[in-house]
Amino acid sequence: MSENGVIYVVGHKSPDTDSICSAIALVHLLNSLGYEAVACRQGEPNNETRYVLNRFGVEVPNLLTDGSGKKVFLVDHSDVAQSLDNLDKAEIFGIIDHHKIGDVTTPQPVYFLALPVGCSSTIVGMLYDYFNVEIPEKIAGIMTCAILSDTVIFRSATTTEKDKEIAKKLAYIAGIDDVEKLGVQLFKEKSDIVRKSPREILLSDFKEFDFAGYKVGIGQVEVVSLSLLDNVKDALFEEMKRLKEESGFHGIFFMLTDIMQEGTELMAVGANQEIFEKAFGKQVEGNSVYLEGVMSRKKQVVPPLQKAYESQ
Ligand code: MG
Ligand code: MG
Ligand code: MG
Repeated sequence: MSENGVIYVVGHKSPDTDSICSAIALVHLLNSLGYEAVACRQGEPNNETRYVLNRFGVEVPNLLTDGSGKKVFLVDHSDVAQSLDNLDKAEIFGIIDHHKIGDVTTPQPVYFLALPVGCSSTIVGMLYDYFNVEIPEKIAGIMTCAILSDTVIFRSATTTEKDKEIAKKLAYIAGIDDVEKLGVQLFKEKSDIVRKSPREILLSDFKEFDFAGYKVGIGQVEVVSLSLLDNVKDALFEEMKRLKEESGFHGIFFMLTDIMQEGTELMAVGANQEIFEKAFGKQVEGNSVYLEGVMSRKKQVVPPLQKAYESQ
């Protein structure tokens, strides 16, 4: 196939394990079906993703940040703000996602598969079944990890029966016998992030949204205990204020999620009390508020915030 036939498969900015592993998995499927596809990433893999790729012996994909002149397949996002620079100069070939539909538009028909499941890798797993293509062990391994990561070991409100079913199948192929143990290991790797600088922690899993014309950033860190963050909280708050000024955000939110307690301390900068109260029915005390049972940005934080901004 010619160079312009190459399909670049890429997940969102501030890549997480799913956005890198679902890209790798989709590339193998596309290539098995006769396409010429290459897996890419929009930024540095986080600790957890590095651990996952290392453990299963899979190479880190190439960096791609600009879509100009490229044929691209987007995974794990459909928001322009989270996608490649110059996406309007790219040819979008397809989109696979499990978030709300974003603001990407296309001038021509595309493959577009969005399902309200817990992980993009679950959808890619379903496609392997659909096309009856065998999944190599190591790819099954990284897909299992992506599902464990995105669903917070099946604890998140985003988890569906399909995620559990596909993960079970993938774990079997990959020869993983204790899925829960692997999941906890992943979140320990992720918790390692607290050794990084406040800016790095803030941006490690950060997503940008356009809510009714307001530029809003929502970051998240998932740890095995909130106490790990006690020493960095103040510095994180200062960094959020700096980032707001530098990058022109209306509001910046940061979720400190405790995966064992199953709750989130939500820090906020810039958003007024009214928005916060509308969205979560609670007042911010100091810089943050604790939200019991909240673990999912896409299901429990983005929708109420978007609604609150829209009703301003
Ligand atoms: Mg993701
Ligand atoms: Mg995902
Ligand atoms: Mg996530």
